Amino acid sequence: MKISIRKFEERDISNKVRWINDNENNRYLHYDLPLEEEKTRQWYYKTENRTDRYDAVIECDKKSVGIIGLLGIEKGQAEYYVTLGEKEYKGKGIAKSATFLLLKYAFSALKLRTVYLFTETENTAAQKLFEQCGFIKTGVAEKSAVNRGKYVDRFRYQITLSDYYKILQFEQSVHDTPLYQIENAANRIFIKRDDLFPVSFGGNKARKALNFFNEIDRGGFDCVVTYGSSSSNHCRIISNMAASRNLPCYIIGPLEASNPTFNSKMMKLFRAEMTIVPVEKVHNTIEEKLSELKSIGKNPYFIQGGGHGNLGTQAYVDCYQEILEFEKTNRIFFDHIFFASGTGTTQAGLVCGQLIHKDNRNIVGISIARKNPRGRQVVVESICEYLHEKNISYNKKQVDDNTHFEDCYTGDGYGKRNLNIQKMQKEMLLRHGIPMDSVYTAKAYAGMKKYLDDKDIKNSDILFIHTGGTPLFFDDLKMIRI
Ligand SMILES: *Cc1c(COP(=O)(O)O)cnc(C)c1O
Repeated sequence: MKISIRKFEERDISNKVRWINDNENNRYLHYDLPLEEEKTRQWYYKTENRTDRYDAVIECDKKSVGIIGLLGIEKGQAEYYVTLGEKEYKGKGIAKSATFLLLKYAFSALKLRTVYLFTETENTAAQKLFEQCGFIKTGVAEKSAVNRGKYVDRFRYQITLSDYYKILQFEQSVHDTPLYQIENAANRIFIKRDDLFPVSFGGNKARKALNFFNEIDRGGFDCVVTYGSSSSNHCRIISNMAASRNLPCYIIGPLEASNPTFNSKMMKLFRAEMTIVPVEKVHNTIEEKLSELKSIGKNPYFIQGGGHGNLGTQAYVDCYQEILEFEKTNRIFFDHIFFASGTGTTQAGLVCGQLIHKDNRNIVGISIARKNPRGRQVVVESICEYLHEKNISYNKKQVDDNTHFEDCYTGDGYGKRNLNIQKMQKEMLLRHGIPMDSVYTAKAYAGMKKYLDDKDIKNSDILFIHTGGTPLFFDDLKMIRI
């Protein structure tokens, strides 16, 4: 969905009248109802050239879906309003995206210092939106407006230029993790530091989690359910983001992988409720937990282990886009991209990115546990599922040809350390100051080096994506000797 805003025009009058007169939309609006087309036309002619207001239309894939704007622009301040008019476009995060665009216009083009708004105290859905956009509640104006003949109380919210820049900087670091060269020997090896993704110790699970919580933040859910082992980076991040929203978080974990780790200690810190059962009971326990919550009137948001699924895949389609932009700016082309592959969602996203952009390069997931054919099959299925949902036509052979899931470097299995991996951890830390854990990234980096040797690859530009897992590095500390 492409969201944009543009100045309100004469052709928008009939839409505005229809949207405002819709009772679902106007409950908290203070218009003289019903709004009349002729009066609205007069309003339009009177206001179209005024500089003390900016009235705009929200477009979603070129279709007009609502109105947004700024009133009383004066002395660096303005009052903001928004109404999403088209029913089927509600609850999709469109108002939020449009608000960011409007704030950009307000602070950059109009050079405002403060944007404020008033909202009826009862209108909690709108307040959620404003808070997500960075507005801060500054007070209550009692009986300050009339709605359907009654005085109503309203909260005042505002966002200042510096609040706005804080959000902007976060958005920028989310969309551009550091990427730089670390080796220049047989090959030039670059690293993309997704471990520095700025949420809960970063990593690919944080990238995916933002997409899940984007959906949760649109409303309707009151708790989160997911599963994973005690070393799961995914479960740590999900419980962190749930706690920051005051949402209860339920984690189901396998008994066989339940030794305390820094990740599981943090899950406890975030007060996630953990249910530990033998691995063969995990599936049923999840089902039971979900029905139990529903039976007491809760509406849980369920996330698959590891952030598997199309929203997780989307996170790495977006990452692929960042890599393309880096290549364009720096006039470079990575012949190979390597990373640790587990559930294969990260890999699926990257390969989807490649198929969408029709690039010709070698994307290699270094398996940290799963063996082929299953390991590879799961990636292929995730790719097809994503492309299908997005209505992108593909050919199965191409998907097969582009999915390289290498299972020769799994060592002794999931989570098993060996000397080679420890050597890699030590080297990365000493030479580059980069922490890598033994379960995922050090294992994958060591696997990549072996792969390059085995295939006699030389003089190539290579990208390794550091997929995170920093807390696991601390669990490894006692094993690393320097
Ligand atoms: C989960 C994880 C991976 C594997 O990602 P998938 O998308 O599941 O393949 C790699 N590295 C780290 C640090 C992880 O936590």
